[in-house]
Amino acid sequence: MDAPLALYRRYRPETFAEVIGQEHVTDPLRHALAANRVNHAYLFSGPRGCGKTTSARILARALNCEQAPVSDPCGECQSCRDLARGGPGSVDVIEIDAASHGGVDDARDLRERAFFAPISSRYKVYIIDEAHMVSPQGFNALLKLVEEPPPHLKFIFATTEPDKVIGTIRSRTHHYPFRLVPPKALGDYLNQLCEAEGVRLEPAALPLVVRAGAGSVRDTLSVLDQLLGGAGPEGVTYDLAVQLLGYTPDSLLDEAVGAFGASDGATVFGVVDKIIESGQDPRRFAEDLLQRLRDLVVLRAVPDALVTGLLDVPGDRAERLQGQATSFGPADLTRMADIVNAALTEFRGATAPRLLLELMCARILVPASDASGVVARVDRLEKRLSMGGVPADQVPVDTRPAPAPSVAAAAPAPQPSSPREAALRQAGAAASAPVAEPDDVPEPPDLPPWDVEEQVGRSAPPEDAAPAPSAPEPPTQPQPQQPQPHQPPSPQPQTQQPRHRPEPPAQQPAPAAPAAGGMGVADVRRLWPEVLEVIKGLRRFTWIMLSQNAQVQALDGQTLTIALVNAGARDSFVASGSAEYVQQALQQVIGVQWRIEAIVDPSVDPRAASTPQPSAPAAQQAAPAPSGQGRGVGAPEAVRQAMREPGSVAPPEDPDLAAHPDDPVVDQGADPEQLLSRELGARVIDEIDHG
Ligand SMILES: [Zn+2]
Repeated sequence: MDAPLALYRRYRPETFAEVIGQEHVTDPLRHALAANRVNHAYLFSGPRGCGKTTSARILARALNCEQAPVSDPCGECQSCRDLARGGPGSVDVIEIDAASHGGVDDARDLRERAFFAPISSRYKVYIIDEAHMVSPQGFNALLKLVEEPPPHLKFIFATTEPDKVIGTIRSRTHHYPFRLVPPKALGDYLNQLCEAEGVRLEPAALPLVVRAGAGSVRDTLSVLDQLLGGAGPEGVTYDLAVQLLGYTPDSLLDEAVGAFGASDGATVFGVVDKIIESGQDPRRFAEDLLQRLRDLVVLRAVPDALVTGLLDVPGDRAERLQGQATSFGPADLTRMADIVNAALTEFRGATAPRLLLELMCARILVPASDASGVVARVDRLEKRLSMGGVPADQVPVDTRPAPAPSVAAAAPAPQPSSPREAALRQAGAAASAPVAEPDDVPEPPDLPPWDVEEQVGRSAPPEDAAPAPSAPEPPTQPQPQQPQPHQPPSPQPQTQQPRHRPEPPAQQPAPAAPAAGGMGVADVRRLWPEVLEVIKGLRRFTWIMLSQNAQVQALDGQTLTIALVNAGARDSFVASGSAEYVQQALQQVIGVQWRIEAIVDPSVDPRAASTPQPSAPAAQQAAPAPSGQGRGVGAPEAVRQAMREPGSVAPPEDPDLAAHPDDPVVDQGADPEQLLSRELGARVIDEIDHG
């Protein structure tokens, strides 16, 4: 018993409808056939194995069909049966391989025979394969014939290199370019074919076969033929395909990609070792890795690519791809792909492919210092943050204790040592509730930042004093502040934040509300060293101040609160315009544009907390605002206000502008001059008499 014919011969299409992936060519041809408007010469060009010669045969068959003009050969008449697969062929359809018969003598021979009428068919059809191999003299010998052929003569030139067919011939033909067959069409066709053959093709093996065929139907069928020949009773398995076709096993690729995602150098170089030890080609591994990265890049850009079929990947592998895609940022993936792609060119003719492969891996593992590397690093950081899965609401619980001990070492008494102090601190926290109060102040935005503290100290109390009940209220209850009749409803989120909190935590006045992009205050704290590093490069003064005297206090929507160790530091931070550099650094590191607000750290500055308690009546009258705590949290609202203005740095103005001459003196019992010199290190140069 003879061995069966090769697949590509057994399944050679007999009609245009069976030719896959070339509809742009076959459809016009069918229309021309049906309408009997067939040209006398055609040029079919395109990559090998994609159906040029087959289409030429179908065209010849359709031309000579007894039913002609028809778009597809009937398959039943004598001519059709002669020209069918496995048929004896027709004397009137002559195939010439120009690779072996392209000389001038062959052309002259052809020319002489061509003038004889067809023996049994309507047309004499010459199919000249590898037409680019016809010598120029040969073409010249044919020129007259192709230009003005007898009515019974048709020419079909098929070539992979249409440019090598001389122009005078080309211009007398109708040119139809064939294309490589898209993987999807090829895959469908293979499945169909395997079904017809009654063999099982594992879904995971299908893409390998398609890839090996590289868009050529004939090559793909040859590959499948080889696999079918070597397949056991279980059909063509993935393992068989990987081994026979020399691909890198998915498991190794998964291992490598996973290790790159986790920056796990040990595993990466372990994979390289396995590749070399198992005798695989390092270049092939790089190619396969690039292919995988390409899939991930697509998947990262188009999350539903697996569903829509943009990526044709079998089920279990799709899940793994999805997981891998989420472990990289887009910049990370493209950077890796670039590196692998560059390495692939180096592999050509390399004498130490293993070394090249290892260098390539090392390059991927070490984040580059160029811009793309930085973006990739940010990608990774963001990824890590989001994978950490710390809900922003729980942030204070686990992060707050960390900075506290170091602060305790620096500051004399940061912890609430007495109930009174704890109460004061709560007052500070509570003071953030009526945070919109300074909004009532006539012109807070125009005040220079360094005057803000005093301004609030002077002008806020009258506002508080107006509704009598608010002042004597225990500071732990913010509610009475809200129904203030004269307080305009404020759209700012700050005023609403406290309502989300059932009770203001004593140690954590920062409302750790999740900001845009899911960043919480803890995320910012984790990234803070990086931010500082960038600030260092932008302005050293700001860096020194922040690295020694500040910490990230809160992230509230689009406002990042930075707590400075004392009022002096806070003021010089504001006055020096440092907020701008922090903004820049945040933009670079995290890619956000937040407002920066500086406050005096209420938990660090116990002096500030205790100082404004000179006498009972004064403290009672002005309890919420002028207390150290109130200043720590309440005053920055004015700063915030000032910084919300586009100009950010307000023009200097009379600090007392907002004050009314009838305002009660808030610093009763405390000498204002003394207060200024103590808090701000001020020295009175001159005194202006306002009387
Ligand atoms: Zn027929």
